[in-house]
Amino acid sequence: PTSLMWFRDDLRVTDNPALSAAMAAGPGVALFILDEQSPGIRPLGGAAKWWLHHALNELRDSLAGLGVPLLLYRGAATNILPGLLATGSFSALHFNRRYGGPERAVDTAAKALAAATGIEVHSHAGTLLHEPWSVSTQGGSNFKVFTPFFNALQALPLRRALPRPAAQHAPAISLPAEELAAWDLLPVNPDWSQGLATTWVPGEAAARDRLDTVLRDIAGDYDHTRDRPDTDGTSRFSPALRWGHLSPVEVWEALGAVLAEHPDRAAGSRAMMRQLAWRDFCWNLLYHHPDLATRNLRAEFDAFAWGWPPAGEPAGEQEAGMARHLEAWHTGQTGFGLVDAGMKQLWETGWMHNRVRMVTASFLVKNLGIHWRVGEEWFWDTLVDADAASNPANWQWVAGSGADASPFFRVFNPLLQARKFDPRGAYVARFAPLAPGEPVVDLMASRADALAAYACMKGNAPPEGAR
Ligand code: FAD
Repeated sequence: PTSLMWFRDDLRVTDNPALSAAMAAGPGVALFILDEQSPGIRPLGGAAKWWLHHALNELRDSLAGLGVPLLLYRGAATNILPGLLATGSFSALHFNRRYGGPERAVDTAAKALAAATGIEVHSHAGTLLHEPWSVSTQGGSNFKVFTPFFNALQALPLRRALPRPAAQHAPAISLPAEELAAWDLLPVNPDWSQGLATTWVPGEAAARDRLDTVLRDIAGDYDHTRDRPDTDGTSRFSPALRWGHLSPVEVWEALGAVLAEHPDRAAGSRAMMRQLAWRDFCWNLLYHHPDLATRNLRAEFDAFAWGWPPAGEPAGEQEAGMARHLEAWHTGQTGFGLVDAGMKQLWETGWMHNRVRMVTASFLVKNLGIHWRVGEEWFWDTLVDADAASNPANWQWVAGSGADASPFFRVFNPLLQARKFDPRGAYVARFAPLAPGEPVVDLMASRADALAAYACMKGNAPPEGAR
């Protein structure tokens, strides 16, 4: 009996519950479907496509080493699966669960399709520390604030990470499939991927090397270094977690071992585990709010008078100047060194340090008056770790419209942030080495405008000093 293992956001062979279960039953065949057609599925951004191409190449090779061929198809999963299941080659279908609304609808339909063909279906937990429905308040509802969520999460027993499965004889199955190269996932004319290629090696092998480095050199000091974009002080696991090259359970276990064995590294390891739980928190929010990327969690923000609303929404004071501001933000030419360095790091490498993500996002939303969704979409297109839950959840956190969000009136000052977190200017010098140009806005005046718009939304008079 041959099992079909359907890979999605879990492109790894170690600690992959669905793959291990499929291979425990006999020979396995692996499947990946590039599905941009199913209703509501958010098409991948450009940087994500670049990553996926390289990651699938690596996965195909490592699966081949285990005796598991990888089949690639493009299209709506519910169009592709019936033909594949009807070949009579498979006795079971395995996958790790997904938590977005459209993805869950596809997976439910896939289960029904398999059942109708007489094929067993097994879904597994492989992408989060804990299933979103298992971390809930005593009353059974979902958490809206992180700290109690984190406490509840830590009280749950964690599954043990699984080893890489043993190699098997490849099944004697030959089915027509597509070629990765034909998917055109890599950019051409222009090829903007050079900076990505010099920064990252997508795939499980490089992620595991980085895990070793982080456990040895970074996790122990993380509580001191995590806010410093001028150092290599964070894990940089985010793309590996986004694409599932590393399982969060394995990372959590490894950090827990550092914590237990090295008291001097405990605070740093614990702080990194807390951040890992933020990822689960974001997915928990998306699970309960499938429209997290398009809708304010706090409905009062629907009345906020954004100067530049997202496409398709009524314009406020929309004007050509706003388009110039947005372009300056995209290209890192706002005249504020830390903002510009962050946006250039994003464009060149597909990644940005968390502190700088907060500063650039705050600047867009609060100093330029541009809706958080416009920024969320830019990040979605340019981040190699663009994540359907973490990206909108964090944008809403910065904008103040989210769960457990930073209050709107906390406006980051990019000059003070630079002085505090890039004190020698090394980060700015690296990514934005030229002297900053003319500032596109006056920091104090734009801050006052933002606070006035916020007061208006609340139905209050604008604060003292607002224009
Ligand atoms: P570390 O500091 O080493 O943290 C370890 C891991 O914990 C990360 O890899 C990540 O998986 C998780 N994590 C840490 N902080 C957060 C957080 N605030 N929310 C959710 N998970 C977290 N992260 C993404 O993975 N994808 C996104 O699309 C994304 N968009 C963001 C947008 C904005 C506006 C902001 C402010 C943050 C965003 N983040 C996103 C969260 C965070 O910035 C990145 O996870 C982090 O910078 C990745 O670097 P690291 O792997 O070195 O993190």
